Amino acid sequence: LLRNLVESGDGEETGKKARTLYNIVFVTAEAAPYSKTGGLGDVCGSLPMALAGRGHRVMVVSPRYMKGGGVGVTTTTTEDSVFAGAFDCQCRITIGCFNAAHEVAFFHEFRGGVDWVFVDHPSYHRPGTPYGDTRGAYGDNQFRFTLLCHAACEAPLVLPLGGYTYGDRCLFIANDWHAGLVPVLLAAKYRPHNVYKNSRCIVAIHNLAHQGVEAGTTYANLGLPPEWYSALEWVFPMWARKHALDKGEAVNHLKGAIVTADRILTVSEGYAWEITTPEGGNGLDGLLASRKAVINGITNGVDIDDWNPLTDKHLSSSFSLNDLAGKAECKAALQKELGLPVRSEVPLIGFIGRLDYQKGPDVIQAALPELMTDDVQLVMLGSGDPDVERWMTWAEREFKEKYRGWVGFSVPVAHRITAGCDILLMPSRFEPCGLNQLYAMRYGTVPVAHSTGGLRDTIQNFDPYAENGQGSGTGWTFSPLTKEAMMGALWTSIFTFRNDKDGWIRLMQRGMSKDFSWDRAALQYEQVFDWAVIDPP
Ligand code: ADP
Repeated sequence: LLRNLVESGDGEETGKKARTLYNIVFVTAEAAPYSKTGGLGDVCGSLPMALAGRGHRVMVVSPRYMKGGGVGVTTTTTEDSVFAGAFDCQCRITIGCFNAAHEVAFFHEFRGGVDWVFVDHPSYHRPGTPYGDTRGAYGDNQFRFTLLCHAACEAPLVLPLGGYTYGDRCLFIANDWHAGLVPVLLAAKYRPHNVYKNSRCIVAIHNLAHQGVEAGTTYANLGLPPEWYSALEWVFPMWARKHALDKGEAVNHLKGAIVTADRILTVSEGYAWEITTPEGGNGLDGLLASRKAVINGITNGVDIDDWNPLTDKHLSSSFSLNDLAGKAECKAALQKELGLPVRSEVPLIGFIGRLDYQKGPDVIQAALPELMTDDVQLVMLGSGDPDVERWMTWAEREFKEKYRGWVGFSVPVAHRITAGCDILLMPSRFEPCGLNQLYAMRYGTVPVAHSTGGLRDTIQNFDPYAENGQGSGTGWTFSPLTKEAMMGALWTSIFTFRNDKDGWIRLMQRGMSKDFSWDRAALQYEQVFDWAVIDPP
């Protein structure tokens, strides 16, 4: 039943204005460069601009985070200064939820053709990430993101951006559980009053691991009519046991979005299928399978200006497909910056990502002693699980000449690792899309990744004999996710790096010549908009 999307963005349609223009409202907890902890921030920072470039009127609604008092700033890139271009709209609204009336303000910046709208409320003014700090997740995240959803539904009606409001014919894109109440509010609060009757909402799932599950009693706080409880109702014995509740009655914000949204999107085709299976569905597989007719997977694009080896401001040398000299300079500069021996012939392997079970740092941990027996260098950049952070610091002392563990969140360092490494290692347990492998390929860095989700969709396995010995493929994927399988792929890549210099350059160039721009994805999004609006299943 899955509908086929247009395959390619190379046709005559890209670069043009869309045939049907929409008022699009993204609702998201992160949007780079204002806020970012991972791929959600990247996507909501660049896709809206690609759609605006096609002629749509696009608004992005997200919280106005702030560095609070300079204490214990942890992992996000959010700084007061990134919000400096956003001005107070002088519009206050009151939102009724959690047993009180909460006043929020809106700030606005028009940039890159997009209306960036920031919801301002004291609960967003904290040091730390959008979701928590060194002590863990904030206890009031349900409140913070309920507020975001209410505010996002009001914004198109009340904000006269550029002189006139978006009005009530909008296409909402609710990203992940944080925006999950948007389609529920449209259905339960607005449509019964003839508002947003012609609007549609698409829920975009970037990561099913987080669903916004809370005790069922919290439903009364959400500002929804009581008769809509079943939309969010979630009876899940496992969850109940974890939270020591008798009956396991919970509300699940993402589940509410899945049942009320007009269409469902995920960030790769592979993941669109995985989430309908018990292994990948995280308890929502049955429900998702029942909505299969409205699910699509669209592989993320990347911001090709931000991630461009020819113009990257974080690099000391630039390079391109036809002139790779700068890449060797970036490698030497990175080795120097990290205090590793500056040697061009040693394979330099990188890892970038949240130190979370999802990303498989434990598999690297298990493989490290074996890997370190060879003449290789490994650099890991990441923050998250304190045990892994401590282990990285330990490994750095243990393998001084070969290993660097950069604990923290640094966009410039991420760029320099992406550019300077030969190989990028991604042993993710699951990966809805994965952006680092796309950035790596653009920078001639060859991905070695677990064959899952978006990684399997975007990396073609290297075959040295294909195309009359010219070779084909852009990297290596391995399965299952074990130390042995990972090391097998890694050894093969290292062997190729050392022994097939020309083959390696062609491998790099094939990755670099791939089109990862948002052009194709933007066309596919438009197709899904059309299906949602004029051609429901
Ligand atoms: P996810 O969204 O699951 O974290 P993605 O691969 O989709 O994974 O996106 C990760 C994004 O976050 C990339 O832009 C990556 O460079 C960035 N990133 C992750 N960890 C760090 C870090 N420690 N420092 C800088 N950037 C990071």
